[in-house]
Formats: sequence, structure tokens, C-alpha cells
Amino acid sequence: VLPPVEGIDSAKCVDSTGLLAVETVPKRLIVLGGGVIGCEFASIFQHFGSEVTIVEFMPHLVPNEDPDAVKTLEKAFKGHGITMHLGTKATRVEETASGVTLHFEGSDGPGFVEGDLILVSTGRAPNVADLGLDDIGVAYDEKRGIRTDGTRRTGQPHIYAVGDVAGYWQLAHSAFREGEVAAENIAGHHVEMSGHVPRCIYTDPEVASVGMTEIEARETYGDDVTTGSVPFAAIARAAMYADKTGFVKTIHGGPYDELLGVVVVGINATEIINAGVIALDAEATIETVADSIAAHPTLAEGLKEAGLVALGRPIHLPPMKKRA
Ligand SMILES: Cc1cc2nc3c(=O)[nH]c(=O)nc-3n(C[C@H](O)[C@H](O)[C@H](O)COP(=O)(O)OP(=O)(O)OC[C@H]3O[C@@H](n4cnc5c(N)ncnc54)[C@H](O)[C@@H]3O)c2cc1C
Repeated sequence: VLPPVEGIDSAKCVDSTGLLAVETVPKRLIVLGGGVIGCEFASIFQHFGSEVTIVEFMPHLVPNEDPDAVKTLEKAFKGHGITMHLGTKATRVEETASGVTLHFEGSDGPGFVEGDLILVSTGRAPNVADLGLDDIGVAYDEKRGIRTDGTRRTGQPHIYAVGDVAGYWQLAHSAFREGEVAAENIAGHHVEMSGHVPRCIYTDPEVASVGMTEIEARETYGDDVTTGSVPFAAIARAAMYADKTGFVKTIHGGPYDELLGVVVVGINATEIINAGVIALDAEATIETVADSIAAHPTLAEGLKEAGLVALGRPIHLPPMKKRA
């Protein structure tokens, strides 16, 4: 989806497919949009040696993610030399003799950044145009895509739709499951979509979460929400990898004191999160998480330890103050 910015149709503005097709690494890459894809490419190209600048309209990167995770990501990006203009609206793209300039309006007034290429990563929309959906009576929405029920059946009983075209998540792993569910139903079984969808950001450091964010949990359960957070600095395997950036956080509460969400930032966060997905799908309580026997030394031990922190009895952190 292209934002309404003057000059955005310049050949110096590419989407993620266009950026993957470049044959030389741009010396200066401007990333317009600090969502998941923008952050991933910012991180990749910073590692390739580009000078990277992110321009993001919202006050923080990946705005819907856990604020603690985002804070850690922004700090790490800053440490890697990625420049971030947050709370900043892109206003104009100007091609220049030496490359391209992105003009913007930030909290400190107008400004600009010069680069060789601009990645426009301001969101994607389902590709529902020109499929003839109106002709066959399949209902859809320009933003959310083809409407389906929990079995992934459309309004036409013999037509199913899965993945980005019918999606809310726009993720490969949710599309896989939707495909399984549709196939089961086509084969005559009755299966509905259920389960928690992990949200992964393949940056350095990685960010992964599943279930409710702390903000969503508090909106739902008010004060009846507790978190437990353990820094990777306290996890032996992170020390072995000499990479102690990040943390594991559990969010639990509600009437059954059940696990509501897990957030992981740091090395292999996108692997660790799968344990959180299963725990959430199994409606685990925080005791199940905390009292599990986690293999040592592993990074996934952080999940157990975060649960222990939530219950006020960590074993790899200094003694905590008693909970009120
Ligand atoms: C840069 C980027 C990074 C991503 N990274 C991740 C990630 O790390 N993890 C993750 O889970 N998800 C990721 N995603 C999202 C993921 O790629 C999609 O959610 C997933 O591919 C959706 O699968 P799909 O089959 O619905 O659509 P697609 O994979 O897009 O497949 C649709 C296919 O249909 C074809 N097609 C379209 N229209 C027609 C037509 N009229 N006739 C015939 N064929 C047609 C297309 O050419 C395409 O091959 C990423 C997306 C992008 C853009």
C-alpha cells in the first residue's frame, strides 16, 4: 500500500520485492515505515553495511507490539547505528543527482534525509482486485480481504479462501494452518480455526510474542494481571552465546490466573516463542510455566524463569521484594 506522499512513484522507491531484486547494496537506505517488514529490512541492510534511516509516522517502531520489546529493539537499533525519525510524517520524495531525498515533518519541524534508495514498507493489502469475486458472489472487503467463516468457507459453500487474500494476519504460518483447516473441511471433516498466532520479527535482536500484549491484558482484566520478566543476562545459555540483549516476559491473570501472553526479545526469540504458543493453546496456568522442568542450559529456560519471577520466586535472579 503506497502512502499519499508526493513523488512516491519514483523509481528510487521500491517495495520489499524490489529491494530483494537489487544487485548492489545501497550505501544509504531510507526505510519509510517502521513496521515489521521495515524493521527487518533495516536490520538486514544495516548488517550488509548500508547506512539506514527509518522514518515512521507513529511515536515508536512496530506500534502494536509490547512496549518493553519495542524499547529494547529501538535501543539496539540505535546501538547498531540505525537512525530513526519517529513520530515523523513523510511529505515528499525528490529525486536528486546523487540519489533521492525524503522530506518529512517531525516533532522538531520539517527535515529531510538523503539516500540512494527508499524502501516503502507502509503496509500490505489483500489482492482481491480483478479476481471476478463480484461475478461469483464471494463477499470481500478491500482491507480485510475475502470474508470466510471459521472453517475458511466463503459465502459460497463450495469456495474456500485462505492466506493473505482472506487474511487478517498476513503471515505464512497462519496461512499454513488455514490451508489445513480448509482442506479438512473440503474432505468432509469439521474443523475451525483456533489457537494462538505467534508474531515474529526477524531483526537483530529478534522479537517474538504470542497472545495478549500487557496493554491488551490490562484492558481486558484490569489490575488482575501480573507480569514476570527475566533478562537474558540472567540466562546461562545467553552468556555462552555472548549475547545478553533482551528478555523473556510472561503476562498472566484473569479468573483462572492463566497465561495470557509471552514476549521474547533477543537471540533465538522466534524459536523460544513456540513453547509459549503451545502453553497458551493448552490454557496453561502460570504455575505450569514456572514449575516446568526446563532443560539447562537453554535460552528457553527464560520462559520458566519469567514464570518464576511472576510468582515472586526466581532462582537465577537476586532475591525479590515480597509482593504486596
Ligand atoms: C517481505 C516479506 C517478508 C515476510 N516475512 C514473513 C515471515 O518471516 N514470516 C511469515 O510468517 N510471513 C512473512 N511474510 C508474509 C507471508 O509471505 C505471507 O503471509 C504468505 O506468503 C501468505 O501466503 P499466501 O499463499 O496467502 O500468499 P502468497 O505467498 O502471496 O501466494 C499467492 C500466490 O498467488 C499468486 N497469484 C496472485 N494472483 C493470482 C491470480 N490472479 N492468478 C494466479 N495466481 C495468482 C501470486 O503470484 C503468489 O504466488 C512476509 C511477507 C513479506 C512481503
